[in-house]
Amino acid sequence: MYAKLLGLDQYAYEPMSEPVSIEQALVDATTRLREVSESARLDAELLLARCIDMPRSYLFAHPEDTLDEAALGRLERTLQRRVEGEPLAYITGSKEFWSLELIVSPATLVPRPETELLVDIALREIPREADWAILDLGTGSGAIALAIAKERQLCQVSAVDVSPEALAVARENANQLTISNISFFQGNWTEPVADQKFKVIASNPPYVASGDAALDALRAEPAVALTAGEDGLESIAILARDCRTIIDDGGPLLLEHGADQRDDVAEVLLSYGWDRIRCYDDYSGNPRVTRAYYSSSETT
Ligand code: GLN
Repeated sequence: MYAKLLGLDQYAYEPMSEPVSIEQALVDATTRLREVSESARLDAELLLARCIDMPRSYLFAHPEDTLDEAALGRLERTLQRRVEGEPLAYITGSKEFWSLELIVSPATLVPRPETELLVDIALREIPREADWAILDLGTGSGAIALAIAKERQLCQVSAVDVSPEALAVARENANQLTISNISFFQGNWTEPVADQKFKVIASNPPYVASGDAALDALRAEPAVALTAGEDGLESIAILARDCRTIIDDGGPLLLEHGADQRDDVAEVLLSYGWDRIRCYDDYSGNPRVTRAYYSSSETT
């Protein structure tokens, strides 16, 4: 009514809005994404590039291009999902990890940069020409196993996960990336590989305490990949117990854990007879990966 009084009614009923340029859409999307993302502009670029089915570089080369209604509709729908808390990687269906473009789905945790530290430490333990058996327990999308298999092509990497849906994603990643020195096993932790030996075992197990307030922000991701009992240490304790019989020549076992779990993880490992325990800081200075060796009577 006010619009009519002001003589603006023709605008109020205009069916088509002004054409929106790529740059304008990015500016608007970035503003909306700021409330959920610390990398709002990057998120906006990745979402828009996907909505127009172009590489991200296209956005920089053509900021003045206008978007058609269909593209704007797609952008609106994906922005909604992101603002409601869905991780960007589930919307785009992929996440870069260790320079590998990985498919991810809600059946898998979104690979995190801190897990690249685990890969980095594992690779320091594996000489370039090694032809060892390596194990990744709780592989999810396959991130750790695939990065190691790619970097150490003479090694044979085994990847275990309890979730058949996650393993399907990991297998698909191996196919897409044409990484073939990897085998997949469905089962509970060491169970499907209990009769084998591995020179290096790496794992990013669930380690968040079941009552941790941080879980709210992680609610789109699979709980089975995140939580491990009241103290977050249940899975780590299972690994400390069961990896002893499948570790070859004493180790190492490499475990990712929470920034406040260094001492607890060391204690669990010590209680199961692991030694030479060392914890590494991630790139933000938080203690996030622990390495341990096991000296059984056969290996000493
Ligand atoms: N790194 C994840 C987080 O706290 C947790 C992953 C895990 O439990 N393995 O955001």
